[in-house]
Amino acid sequence: MKNLLFVLNIFIWIAINPSLAQDADSNEKLSESEHLVMATDWFQKSAEMRACYYQAYQLAKWRLDQKLASRQNQKPAAIVFDIDETVLDNSAYEVHLIQTGQLYTSEGWKQWTDRVDARALPGALEFTKYAKSKGVEVIYISNRKADEREPTLKNLKKEGFPNADSVFLFLREINQNNDKTMRRITVIETYDVLLYVGDNLTDFSQIFAERGADLGFQVVDSLRDLFGDNYIILPNPTYGEWEGAIYGNNYKQTPEKKRALRKRVLKGY
Ligand SMILES: [Mg+2]
Repeated sequence: MKNLLFVLNIFIWIAINPSLAQDADSNEKLSESEHLVMATDWFQKSAEMRACYYQAYQLAKWRLDQKLASRQNQKPAAIVFDIDETVLDNSAYEVHLIQTGQLYTSEGWKQWTDRVDARALPGALEFTKYAKSKGVEVIYISNRKADEREPTLKNLKKEGFPNADSVFLFLREINQNNDKTMRRITVIETYDVLLYVGDNLTDFSQIFAERGADLGFQVVDSLRDLFGDNYIILPNPTYGEWEGAIYGNNYKQTPEKKRALRKRVLKGY
């Protein structure tokens, strides 16, 4: 009888303390974004991250100078840049996800980009300005959506990036998917593209989209000479198609399943 009363008391206590159920809920959600913590720590708080960006943009500058010195093409020269985690830093959005226990949603992302608060990444501003000073057009091909055009231009302008103008910005239009190929084709009709700069392999070519069971290693290995030559890649441990490949490109699986997959792919000794 005593035990029964004790259990009953607990039920009553939980019933009159709805915040307890809420806490349990938010703790569960917190654990869903827990895996973002270490990656975001690295991205925001490691000096190594800054060094990687400086290194990539310094290499881009060397390659640009070399290419300009030997260029034959009559078309105007250009460099194609991705935006997010290439020239603009959205890690504050990742922090928001961690702090609120949420996962990425397009609505939440839109709320972030509407704030026009993303900061320039290390080396990005200097390099884009250098390119522009050499008569090389800076072109942005991003998978931000068409309805993010205005805040995106405002953000690029706010941070001082050159060519923060609609004619140089190719976004994902309504009914378009993530594939940037058609937008790249449009750009190369007018421009001699000397370099592509991005944090995701499909910022360079759609050939990298099919990662398959080997997570795309083979195709990258087979095209290794392009990296540091035509393609300048930046580090993004917080998200990207690499993560999707681990999930078999199915983000809609339960958090538990995705957590398990993240561990299952790892190779120990
Ligand atoms: Mg990106």
